[in-house]
Amino acid sequence: MAGHDAHDDERLFAVVGAAEGTFGHFEPDTPPLIDSRGRVRLSFSRVDMFRTCPRRFRYTYIDRLPTLPSPALSFGTSIHAALEGFYDRKLPTMPSEEELVASLYDAWDPTGFGQVPRTEQLEYYRHGQQVLRRYHRRVASSYRLPAATEAWFELPVEHEAVVVGSIDRVDVDDEGRFHVVDYKTNRRVRDRAQVAGSLQLAIYALACRHLYGALPATVSLDFVVAGIEVRVALEELDLEAAREAVLDTAARLRTGEDGPVPGPLCGWCDHRTICPAWQGDGPEVLGRAHTELAALRRSLARDVRRLRELEAGVARIEAELDPPPDPGGA
Ligand code: SF4
Repeated sequence: MAGHDAHDDERLFAVVGAAEGTFGHFEPDTPPLIDSRGRVRLSFSRVDMFRTCPRRFRYTYIDRLPTLPSPALSFGTSIHAALEGFYDRKLPTMPSEEELVASLYDAWDPTGFGQVPRTEQLEYYRHGQQVLRRYHRRVASSYRLPAATEAWFELPVEHEAVVVGSIDRVDVDDEGRFHVVDYKTNRRVRDRAQVAGSLQLAIYALACRHLYGALPATVSLDFVVAGIEVRVALEELDLEAAREAVLDTAARLRTGEDGPVPGPLCGWCDHRTICPAWQGDGPEVLGRAHTELAALRRSLARDVRRLRELEAGVARIEAELDPPPDPGGA
């Protein structure tokens, strides 16, 4: 192991405080998120995060604060890698169920499990094996090699933005039509209307045309945990809305917009402890909006109790002052 002496620390301090330009061509020559042609560099997740909360976007992609690894993310990465290996082959011979399940060992991403007990990682791993087993049974009869797996794209949107990303799988049918597939590894299955409204799939459809010269005939989300693929036709997508969402995000980013927008996802935000909109540290307190909601509920409960007490008191006194007529009286 290399020795460590006081000079190492001195060099480190010199690097940290060095004037701009000291490191020549290693120095970034454009501001964060702007590429060498002056376009805002986006991805679906960047657009999605900015539209949900510009402050979270800033902390993540401009301030580049670290984000916490999570078991769910690592699980998703591992399943994606195993499925990529399942399709990324030279010959159209489908790997057996056991080969697919065994491939999870090499595909496994352990980075999100550092903070959880080993038994939990094991449970995730076994769950991953079951998911792949079920996947194999579902697709075995229709298996064919795709046109591409993890198809990397850089999609220019006017001269304002470039959207980068990779499409999990692009299939091509006997008529030469493309079909775009994106894997989802969370449990929640979205319905057809939600799939048709997916900004991500609309961007992928545009990327497919950019890469291969033709829009796909269909796009789908494959919910591999539930074992369901929800597919919609190209005509159901709103490609123009997707372009506008990208351009709108790029324009707002250029203005420096970075206001916090508290919402239900604050509880999962890695940066909540430094966010001015975050009002607590319990998972049930999700930013200012939820704090205000809880306060309104408490005050409403107090008012309702007071209303009932007063109603009962007034009714009692009215009964005493004006007793009902005695039925046996004259
Ligand atoms: S805590 Fe909520 S409001 Fe603050 S940055 Fe995160 S998501 Fe945005």
